Amino acid sequence: MEDILEPGKIFIQNIISAASVSASCAVDVLRLDKIHPVISGNKWFKLKYYIEEAITSKYSTIGTFGGPYSNHIVAAAYACRQAGFKSMGIIRGERPALLSDTLQEAKHYGMMLDFVSRHSYDDKKIITDRFKHVYWINEGGYGIAGAKGASDIFNYVSDAAKYTHVVCAVGTGTMMAGLVNRAYTHQQIIGISAMKGNHALMERVRDLLDEESTAKKYKIYHDFHFGGYAKHPQELLDFMNETWQQYQLPTDIVYTSKTFFALLQLIQNNTIPAGSNVLMIHSGGLQGNRSLPSGTLMF
Ligand SMILES: *Cc1c(COP(=O)(O)O)cnc(C)c1O
Repeated sequence: MEDILEPGKIFIQNIISAASVSASCAVDVLRLDKIHPVISGNKWFKLKYYIEEAITSKYSTIGTFGGPYSNHIVAAAYACRQAGFKSMGIIRGERPALLSDTLQEAKHYGMMLDFVSRHSYDDKKIITDRFKHVYWINEGGYGIAGAKGASDIFNYVSDAAKYTHVVCAVGTGTMMAGLVNRAYTHQQIIGISAMKGNHALMERVRDLLDEESTAKKYKIYHDFHFGGYAKHPQELLDFMNETWQQYQLPTDIVYTSKTFFALLQLIQNNTIPAGSNVLMIHSGGLQGNRSLPSGTLMF
């Protein structure tokens, strides 16, 4: 296996760069987007314990699920190849005439792609029953092992105890659950949902918490989706360019731009009170910006 899949050997450059976004609060950004060009951000953390388990259980093929633009699919394809596994991606929707960049990349890393209708995609059991001897990982790496890996994000934060708030994006809620599990009781974990009105997320997060963590402070905000999952109106693109100009912080259109926007709002409206010490997790995803016409973003 390549180094990146061995805990403790990961090479992270400039992982925290302070961005003083406000006079009243200190904000640090954990730059997980910098860890690896392909398995960027939180995906490696979420995958590693599943892959370890597949090795221990002597599987040779790993299968997982995702949409045609899923960062998780590419990360899984790459991680499986590096760890010596065959990989299979069950992709939601009909096979398009032209594969998305994401799917082309997954294929390039050796992933077999199987397209299933939106309707059948919802019944994972029927799909998984068709394949024998495959180690299945949930969509987005959702699950206890995924959350356990996400807890390890804190291994790369020196002096984590000094933060009063930790802010992260929420897709499946796996990363957030991992952060809550490892958080100190004096900290508040704030999740920003990338989806519109997905209020089931709170329960999905809670289902992955250790028993002693259910009493910790954590909250998901649902008002920063900019129209819905992966929607990126001009207002958001302008904000991303401003964020780059002002803080040299590149963000992605699906998750981290909306998270950073939310963070500034929550500081401004005093939800995160003056004097707070905030850590934002930059969970990666920058490769998703390739779907924009060139020149849209300054970075
Ligand atoms: C996948 C992804 C997320 C979502 O993480 P979950 O653990 O599913 O909530 C957040 N940010 C980025 C950049 C991602 O690619």
